[in-house]
Amino acid sequence: MDELLRSQLGTESITTDMVKHCSYCVMISPDPLHRTPVYCIKYSGSNTPILVNLATCLTCGDFKKCGLGFEQP
Ligand code: SF4
Repeated sequence: MDELLRSQLGTESITTDMVKHCSYCVMISPDPLHRTPVYCIKYSGSNTPILVNLATCLTCGDFKKCGLGFEQP
C-alpha cells in the first residue's frame, strides 16, 4: 500500500510513489509500517543512504524536481 502524508497545513500531500522518482531516492521500504521508509542520499553526503520519512521529503521538496508533474496546485 502506498504511504500517504498530508502536511499539517493541509495544502500539500505526498506519497511514497511520488518520492521514489526523486533523483536522491535510491529505495523505498516495502513495509507500510516503516516510520522512515525513504532511502535518501542527499543528506548522507555519500552513496550510502540515510533513512528519512515523508515529512522530511515534504519539507525538502526535491522530489518535485524530477519532472514528473507532481507540483501541487
Ligand atoms: S528528502 Fe528530499 S532529496 Fe531525499 S528523497 Fe526526499 S525529496 Fe528526495
